[in-house]
Amino acid sequence: PLVLGIETSCDETGIGIVRGTTLLSNTIASSMDQHARYGGVVPEVAARAHLEEIIPSIEAAVAEAGIRLDDIDAIAVTNGPGLAGALMVGVGAAKALAVSLGKPIYAVNHLVGHVGADLLQNPESDAGATSLEYPTIALLVSGGHTALLLVRDLVSDVELLGETIDDAAGEAFDKVARVLGLPYPGGPQIDRVAAVGNPKAIRFPRGLSLPKDMAKHRYDFSFSGLKTAVARWVEARQDAGDDVPIADVAASFREAVVDVLLTKAVAACTDYDVPRLLLGGGVIANARLREVAAERTSAAGIDLRIPPLSLCTDNGAMIAALGAQLIMAGHAPSNLEFGADSTLPVSEIQA
Ligand code: ATP
Ligand code: MG
Ligand code: FE
Repeated sequence: PLVLGIETSCDETGIGIVRGTTLLSNTIASSMDQHARYGGVVPEVAARAHLEEIIPSIEAAVAEAGIRLDDIDAIAVTNGPGLAGALMVGVGAAKALAVSLGKPIYAVNHLVGHVGADLLQNPESDAGATSLEYPTIALLVSGGHTALLLVRDLVSDVELLGETIDDAAGEAFDKVARVLGLPYPGGPQIDRVAAVGNPKAIRFPRGLSLPKDMAKHRYDFSFSGLKTAVARWVEARQDAGDDVPIADVAASFREAVVDVLLTKAVAACTDYDVPRLLLGGGVIANARLREVAAERTSAAGIDLRIPPLSLCTDNGAMIAALGAQLIMAGHAPSNLEFGADSTLPVSEIQA
């Protein structure tokens, strides 16, 4: 089926068009620059930017796919989780489009959409053929989420194994960058600076990794203690009138985040006897994360899957891909009464 996907859960207005598992277009307009001076995504600013971008983005995606809007078989839209006001713009646009075109609508879960991105890795595969094997463990890391999922079936069985109990990993990168005087978004900046630093210079804490924590929070994450530890360490240096070795701090911080993310992801693969790990979310751009993921999965005999970066960050194509899977699995469309749900649980794949 030819599906148009709409994604507005955070700061990307993403419109994607797919035919089955074939990617036809993927238009992404980000309001990131508008959030820079606040050091993080401002919900009202994001919602307003979606309003401005949504119609031009739909037009651009349709043109790029070389289709007519009327050709599409269905519309898929993210209805949660995410920022309420931002989600509402996408949900409203999707409903208006569905009603005016007389097409069915599939309201889908943003996090499950990230897993669906993997289906589009293989553009020449024909509709119905999937590159994703089940079950798989998925590690999703972005500015708003840090979650480990057990995906037994993309359209019917996704279980949340664990998530962050405080800050998301991307958020931690952004906050630590601020402490180091680096601009927003901090992830790419820390990655760049860390390249010449010593990751063993400072031993920063690995959240929820002590044996007593692992017993209760085996698959959960915590980055707020790490962020505070970095801030304290930097302050102590400054108070003593010493220079802050930014590269070493960045490298040591990055090492702590990457270590804990992959220790827990590999533990999940081992515990559930699932030899597949899929990565998703904007933090997957991190160079050290990719390196350590490759090393540890290869050592553990786990097949590592990383979609191209344009499909790892928030985008409409992954939402369209999930919609297409639901259609191919024979699922009925969503009732138009669904709304945006900022705290939608991952087990609710479709509204
Ligand atoms: P979501 O709603 O999925 O949480 P988001 O907009 O918060 O969306 P993304 O757009 O997927 O998240 O990713 C942005 C985050 O990724 C930012 O926190 C940014 O600092 C982080 N990031 C980007 N590149 C890197 C990198 N190379 N290393 C670490 N973090 C990175
Ligand atoms: Mg974003
Ligand atoms: Fe996301």
